[in-house]
Parts: sequence; structure tokens; C-alpha cells
Amino acid sequence: MDFAQLPTPCYVVDEALIERNLKVLKGVMERTGAKILLAQKAFSMYALYPLIGEYLCGATASGLYEARLCGEEMAAPMRAKGRMLENHIFSPAYQEKDFQEILRYCDHIVFNSWNQLERFGRQAKETGKSIGLRINPECSTQEGHAIYDPCAPGSRLGVTQDGFQRALSRGREGLSWLDGLHFHTLCEQDSDDLEKTLDAVEEKFGAYLSAMKWINFGGGHHITREGYDIPRLERCIRRMQEKYGLTVYLEPGEAVALNAGFLVTAVLETLENGINIAILDASAACHMPDVLEMPYRPPLLESGQPGEKAFTYRLAGPTCLAGDCIGDYSFAHPLHPGDRLCFGDMAIYSMVKNNTFNGMPLPAIALRRKSGECVIVREFGYQDFRERLS
Ligand SMILES: *Cc1c(COP(=O)(O)O)cnc(C)c1O
Repeated sequence: MDFAQLPTPCYVVDEALIERNLKVLKGVMERTGAKILLAQKAFSMYALYPLIGEYLCGATASGLYEARLCGEEMAAPMRAKGRMLENHIFSPAYQEKDFQEILRYCDHIVFNSWNQLERFGRQAKETGKSIGLRINPECSTQEGHAIYDPCAPGSRLGVTQDGFQRALSRGREGLSWLDGLHFHTLCEQDSDDLEKTLDAVEEKFGAYLSAMKWINFGGGHHITREGYDIPRLERCIRRMQEKYGLTVYLEPGEAVALNAGFLVTAVLETLENGINIAILDASAACHMPDVLEMPYRPPLLESGQPGEKAFTYRLAGPTCLAGDCIGDYSFAHPLHPGDRLCFGDMAIYSMVKNNTFNGMPLPAIALRRKSGECVIVREFGYQDFRERLS
């Protein structure tokens, strides 16, 4: 891929790589009858929504704006082609001022608590929506990433078995509105953890499953990662279909755009302070915040681990934050101002989390078409920085 003509910093999303992921997901749907939705919070590059809408069953939103984006950029163009897409939403707490508009865009509405279900459920039911409740199976399957574990003690996400029982003992009206149960407990995990989670779901909520129409397994399924156990995922899906007669939904974000995007950046300056340091025009804090939050070391094309190649550098952003460091990488040649570097796996949780801290410019967004042609979809400037302030 020739990055030499692109402005920097610039995200480049590769249509062929997105489509490769979509084909893997479509295979799961075709073999099992499960329905897969894009979780927009991971990847909202709506220039690709028509492509995504050709493969997946729709999208899910974390709130009104994402729901509207799906409605306008994915559902409407697909409807014009005769393909009906689903628009789901889950939010920890809905607001009265948004709810009418949410009812306009969404067909599936998932509530986080019995209070929310009782507050908004009747309206949603009366307008013909399919209603879900998020449950918390209290089954932690990940270590080391407490901020990504919705099953951790004290979690605000989902109704526990105890909470469910207590609500039912107060009255059953809410239960009669429910069409489905939703859980989301995984993060970059394989299907063995899904299998364990389903055991917990059945143990704690099995008594209610037969009364439901659907179950949503949430996201965090790393389906398009090499080595992911797809047959086991499909057994999990069939288990819920056959035992309880449920429609199964999956709503991955990462898996849709995994390893399908790049961030092209330029070296601005190099310096030395016991180690070699290169300052880039891309910032971890502004343009790849998960590098600091998660944290992780993003892949970088044509580089090695520290010390592996002749010249090792700490790659760092141009902001004031001392910790705005992307990681230590080695190269066959010394770095010089103007050199271009290309980080991999930069489509997910990148542009959706961008910020302009320090007045940093937002990276341009480019698309590498299946033909190989690279087009710049969007560029940002001073006005975009200014518009968000007052
Ligand atoms: C984050 C999230 C997803 C998508 O998760 P990925 O890890 O990107 O697959 C799906 N559903 C819910 C409710 C989420 O919070």
C-alpha cells in the first residue's frame, strides 16, 4: 500500500480487509441462523455502512446518536435496496428527552435495570418494539482488565440473579413485556469463555429463557482473530436455539474491523535521553487512547521488538502529556524527520475515541478501496477543534 501521498496523521481503512471480516461473520450467520449486528461504538465509519449492511443484520447503538447514525447511514440506504436492517440500542440509563426519537429509529430496545424497564417499557411495547433486559450472569472470565469486566462486584451493568428475583417478588408486569435477554461480559475473548458464560446464564436465568424470543450474547467475541474457535461459537449458538427456541444475536464491534485499518504518521523530530526517542505527529492520548487505557502496544509495520533490529526508539506523541508514549520499537535504519510510520489495527476504538487535547489536529480518514485506490474520505482542520469549544 502506498501511503506516500496521504496527509499525516491519517487513518486508512482497507475495504477488502473489512469485507474479509464480514465474510467470516456472514459464514457464522449462514451456518447457524444467528443474527450479527455491528456494535457502532467500536467502529462508526459510516462511509462503509452500506458495505456492512450488505453482510450483517444491522447495528447496535449505545445511545441516540449512534442509533440515528445507523438509521440514516445503514438502515435507510439498505431499505432503498429492499433489505430490512435491525437497529438495536442498549444504554445504562435512557433519558425522557431522547426516548421518543429513539423509538423512531430503533426496533429493539434493551434496558439495564427493572426501574428503566418499568419507566420506559410500556411506551416501547405500545409502539411495537422488541424489548430486552440486560442481565449480569456474574461470571468473570477475564483477568487483568477490571475496567472491561461488567461482571466485577458492584457493576452497574445488567441485572443480577438476585436483582431479578427481588423485582419479580414486587410484581411481574415488567416480565410480561420482555422479548429477550441480553448479556455482554466478554472483551477480546474466545468461545470457551462464551461457553462458560452460557453455563452461568442458564444456571441463573434458565427458568426465564423459554419465555423469551431472543437472547443477545453481546460483543467481545474475537471471531475474526486468527485461531478463534468458530465451531465452538456455533455450538454455543445452536445450544440456545435448540434448547430454548431462541433467536441468537451477537453484536461484535472489534471483530467487524479487526486488523482492517492503519494510522499513518510522520516523524517530526528525534532526540536522545538515555534512549532514542522519536516524536510523531500522532498522539497516543488523542488518536489511539486505548494504547494508554487498555494498555497495549499497537503493531507497527516494518518494525521489531526493542533491541530486535539495530535501532530502537521510543515512539511518542507531540502533546504535553509525559506519558503520551506509544511504545518502544526497533528499526533497521535510524529514524529521521519526515519518515513515515504505519501502525496496524487502527480501525477499532480509534476514530470513535479521538479528541483534540492540546489542540491536536484530528487525523484524516482515508479508504483503501477494493480496487487498491486510496481516497481521502474526510479531512479535519482548525474549525473542527474550535466548534467543540466556546
Ligand atoms: C462494547 C460493547 C459491544 C462490542 O464489544 P466489542 O468488544 O467491540 O466486540 C457490544 N455490546 C455492548 C453492550 C457493548 O458494551
